[in-house]
Amino acid sequence: MESLWPQIEPLLAQVTKPARYIGGELGAQQVVHGPDLVSWLLVYPDTYEVGLPNQGLQILYEILNERPDAAAERSYAPWVDMEAAMRAAGVPLFSVEGHHPASAFDVIAFNLSAELVYTNVLNLVDLAGVPVRSADRSDTHPLVMAGGHCAFNPEPLADFVDCFVLGDGEEVVGEVNAVLAEFRGGGHRRPGDGAGRADLLRALSRVDGVYVPSCYDVAYDDDGRLAGVAPRYADTPERVEKRTIADLGAWPYPRRQLVPLIEVVHDRLNVELFRGCTRGCRFCQAGMITRPVRERPAEQVRTMVSAGLERTGYDEVALTSLSSADYSGIQETVTAIIDDPACSGQVSVSLPSLRVDAFTVGTAAQIQRVRRTGLTFAPEGGTWRMRQVINKLIREEDLYAAVDAAFSQGWKRVKLYFLIGLPTETDEDTLGIVALAKQCVAIGKRYHNSVTVTASVGGFVPKVQTPFQWFGQNTIEELTRKVHLLRDAARPVRGLTIRWHDPKATAAEGVVSRGDRRMGAVIEAVWRAGGTFQEWSEHFDLQLWTDALAAHGMSLEDTVYRHRTEDEVLPWDHLSAGLHRDFLWQDWKDALAEFGLPDCRWTPCYDCGACTGYGVEHVVASAVPPAGGSQGTGQDLSTGGQVPVRFLTTAPSGAAPASGPGGSATALVGEGRG
Ligand code: SF4
Repeated sequence: MESLWPQIEPLLAQVTKPARYIGGELGAQQVVHGPDLVSWLLVYPDTYEVGLPNQGLQILYEILNERPDAAAERSYAPWVDMEAAMRAAGVPLFSVEGHHPASAFDVIAFNLSAELVYTNVLNLVDLAGVPVRSADRSDTHPLVMAGGHCAFNPEPLADFVDCFVLGDGEEVVGEVNAVLAEFRGGGHRRPGDGAGRADLLRALSRVDGVYVPSCYDVAYDDDGRLAGVAPRYADTPERVEKRTIADLGAWPYPRRQLVPLIEVVHDRLNVELFRGCTRGCRFCQAGMITRPVRERPAEQVRTMVSAGLERTGYDEVALTSLSSADYSGIQETVTAIIDDPACSGQVSVSLPSLRVDAFTVGTAAQIQRVRRTGLTFAPEGGTWRMRQVINKLIREEDLYAAVDAAFSQGWKRVKLYFLIGLPTETDEDTLGIVALAKQCVAIGKRYHNSVTVTASVGGFVPKVQTPFQWFGQNTIEELTRKVHLLRDAARPVRGLTIRWHDPKATAAEGVVSRGDRRMGAVIEAVWRAGGTFQEWSEHFDLQLWTDALAAHGMSLEDTVYRHRTEDEVLPWDHLSAGLHRDFLWQDWKDALAEFGLPDCRWTPCYDCGACTGYGVEHVVASAVPPAGGSQGTGQDLSTGGQVPVRFLTTAPSGAAPASGPGGSATALVGEGRG
């Protein structure tokens, strides 16, 4: 492949952070391409700093490069200054390893972890010199693929992405590569060259977990509502099921985590403790679509931590998952890491996504032995009633006990995450956020003269494949009113800071989140009007979105604020995250009835479909439920269905999300201090 470095190098003096574009990180692969190797360009459609730590991309990068029939490089969205310089100089999107042009790769594969990056996806395909619409591509163009959590509603990108992968990527990426390699056989320059792109896409559509939009017809009824999405060919599956790896222990990746040359978000060693979550928080798409729970064996966690620290030189490790304190034996694992002689007492451990009910004084004490990193808890709802609706069954006393533990062990800053705009939310629920945070400040002042509690408030966007997928999102005006309520109530409280996400950006996210295939025209219009980097406050522009909606006969009222009905065909109904639709509907009704559902790790299975449908099960090292019952709330553990769940005494199997830390570092926030 040709290197574009001679054309790229002169541009670097003109742009901010040129190190974004040079590669050379510790852990970067020496990629060798060859006629028998399928070449992949793995692209994170946001800046280098946001994209580099993404664990999903790094896992696939290593797995592909270990294969004898594949070679993978990486790319990230060039910031606007670099893009302008590239376009002016005629330099296309390139890889950071070999600085090869994106169009020379067989596959350009995107990680989709947030909806507002979709316009960047179109921009990067265009910057690669590849036609933006799939239908305009020929056999000479790379395949454009995408995966990640947002792929569970791929329809808004269906006109631009040739195929999507649903679920865990570790196994399916090899199967996709095998299909591409087979088509590449016979000396074709491209996998589809000679054999025909349409044939290749049909072959890919037969791989489990792969969705090829062009193999499906979409029908609308007379009212313009979606009537159905049906396969065009007899050998195309009616419903695409997600992929689930049963054994996380079989995939100890990344083995060689990338260490960047410049500061990035989550700049530390990251080791995934487990994948999946069965707490059942109804707003949480990540929890719903990654079921069941699959823990990594504790010994492997320790080995990955010590080897990773030694190799990278980091002095901080994050033990990642959707709820790290739920990991069996978390205290022992943290203690073992801190006591490891290799760490020399200089390594700090952070546990993102702590749940307050599982957090203990012991864990806090272990973590703070070396250095007090930030502590974040996520009650999500301001009142017990609200938390029953969303099934985040945290009692106030649980939160206060956790916060007390933290302050008593020396922390002076605590962060709390909340959502506003949740189903059935009242002003009492909203103001409950300030009441909770205020009490946390008071607890902190028992131990320290000066403490800071930050309540971070996000507007709720209903996500597909969750029980709230039928809910009509709060309007911008309503979310803004709630933000003002919070800000005013927090103002007199010294030590309390309220931060909030821009309600306009929440609305734009909602536009894409549950859109059907027609939303592609809106995304394209926003991109053509210059709307890239919509995750970034300095570039986000709601007017671009509302203008594009209006130009295509759509509105926020219909696409974002409208409640969906039970019998309505949803644009993602032909795709499955494993969860039965009737389970989700019942859970939605339970939410409205303020009825909580126990964590099925410690109660009988209620057959949501995630295990029973795929022949997999939870992999947890402990069959001992938390003190006090499910979710630590005293809930009756006998509640549940009839199918028993087998708990393993050791943890031989497990799986983790193909996207890990490294999500958007969006700056779309406001702030008010007490
Ligand atoms: S199938 Fe049963 S055990 Fe598995 S996640 Fe669903 S409810 Fe839990």
